[in-house]
Amino acid sequence: SWKFALEPYIKNPGGFESDEVIFYDDKVVIIRDKFAKSVCHLLVLIRDPQLTRQHPTTALTLKVQNDLDQYIDRAQDYAYKDFTSRYKPLKLDPFFGSDDEFNDKYSFIDSFIQVGVHSVPSMANLHIHVMTKDLNSDRLKNKKHYNSFTTDFFVNWDKLPLDQVPDPKATEEQYLKNHDLICQYCSQNFSNKFAKLRQHLTQEFDQHFRAV
Ligand code: 5GP
Ligand code: ZN
Repeated sequence: SWKFALEPYIKNPGGFESDEVIFYDDKVVIIRDKFAKSVCHLLVLIRDPQLTRQHPTTALTLKVQNDLDQYIDRAQDYAYKDFTSRYKPLKLDPFFGSDDEFNDKYSFIDSFIQVGVHSVPSMANLHIHVMTKDLNSDRLKNKKHYNSFTTDFFVNWDKLPLDQVPDPKATEEQYLKNHDLICQYCSQNFSNKFAKLRQHLTQEFDQHFRAV
């Protein structure tokens, strides 16, 4: 079933193009998200056959996180290089205090890259999202897509693990369905008006960045 679409990557990472599988070893596979919701959207997949079937909100214990940290760093580093090689900042903005900060890898990663998992994942194999925060992508097509990365539906790396797996129905209602659409750059509230927000996100992006 489609829920196991990520399984081939952990089974046979060598069978993919190097622009799709960007790194692998015996522990993890780092891939580009096929339906990227930001300029750079990566997934870190864990190859361990037991771990891959566990729920990300509870499986990522401090011990497991500790073992993964070097791979998260690698993915963040890749996202930093990928984004900054394609875009430069146009003006001071809430993410970057100055051009220097944009150009400083660690400030960039701190302010503009998010790492975490979905409270209710759609894909069965354990994966961690590592992505720039722009949400400037044609693949971002509806309210659920947007809210799944901008509300607490997205559980950040440093909030993991949770004590228990969140109730899927209640969590989806609260964050994906009932939560207003709020612009990540300026906090403007778009209520339910996704088309308006989508347009606005493109404007925000164009005001903050220019293509290199
Ligand atoms: P989830 O909501 O389960 O946390 O996210 C799963 C992610 O996997 C989504 O962002 C989706 O775009 C991505 N995805 C789904 N199928 C494929 C695929 O076949 N290949 C790749 N590279 N990514 C996929
Ligand atoms: Zn805005």
